[in-house]
Amino acid sequence: MVRLSAITPSGPVQLGNYLGAVRRWAVDGGEDDVYFISDLHAMTTSHNPSRLRALTREQLAVLIAAGVDPRSVSVQSDLVRELGALTWVLECTCTYGEAARMVQFKEKSVGRPSVRLSLLTYPVLMAADILLQGAREVPVGDDQRQHVELARALARRFNGTYGEVFAVPRAVVPPTAARVRDLADPSRKMAKSATDAAGTVFVLDPPDLVRRKIRRAVTDEVARVRYAPEEQPGLANLLEILAACTGGEPAALADGFTGYHDLKEATAEAVVEELRPVRERTRQLLDDPAELDRVRAHGAERTRDRCRHRLDAALRLSGLG
Ligand code: AMP
Repeated sequence: MVRLSAITPSGPVQLGNYLGAVRRWAVDGGEDDVYFISDLHAMTTSHNPSRLRALTREQLAVLIAAGVDPRSVSVQSDLVRELGALTWVLECTCTYGEAARMVQFKEKSVGRPSVRLSLLTYPVLMAADILLQGAREVPVGDDQRQHVELARALARRFNGTYGEVFAVPRAVVPPTAARVRDLADPSRKMAKSATDAAGTVFVLDPPDLVRRKIRRAVTDEVARVRYAPEEQPGLANLLEILAACTGGEPAALADGFTGYHDLKEATAEAVVEELRPVRERTRQLLDDPAELDRVRAHGAERTRDRCRHRLDAALRLSGLG
């Protein structure tokens, strides 16, 4: 069973990516899974080429440092020719109405003076990512569910119109996914591209910076440590982060603290210790380009080998070549 997930190099890997996704890929992932850096998706909004290249490399290093099986890791653009070809065929299978209905497109394009066409079409590229690798399960949050539904619809339509080529994927809810919220504004989820980095802990932040960010986390005036996500979202976020790093349940952990200061200190230390080995190993990998290049080249070869027959069949059946 091939599972497929990705991380977009739109910024450095943050604690939410790590606790909610990357760490799970390391623990649950198998050799057959596909975990990739979706650098093509990072181009759907304004981007800087050298920053994109550096972030792609850094994210690749973080995935391996976090313990994701190097045999399952790849970089999306290493398959750009194959993906480009299938995206075109799938765009010719998709209707404009289907693409324009995507809620993410509406949300991300509203109020912007200029919107890249790729922001509208990238769910079709995402369908190509999924279908080309024969992925059966795509663990996604609610925000991406609609895109997996589109991939399902396109697989069925292509198979029904031209002949059976693609496995029909399904979206699966990631088990007990941690939802990490922004430390400065707990109404938002923590994000790589947050404009205010004070609320975002990056995996490669030095320990002192991690401590400072967590000490400054927004809490409330209630002055009581308990797990109440609705009334005390900032505090609940800290308890959830602590629970994700140390094990245990947020509500039970709350009983061990009398004041916010102690909770923040304990959370800061837990995060620093959780991230320390990942940070150190990432640094080593970034200093050893040969090892990263080897993993990347192997990932490219493996994903290319796996998709070749499907792409050839899709092109042939749709009347090309
Ligand atoms: P992204 O590249 O940011 O779209 O996300 C890569 C992975 O990290 C996806 O599986 C997301 O669901 C997950 N993720 C991103 N931000 C958070 C967060 N704040 N809390 C939990 N998971 C997150």
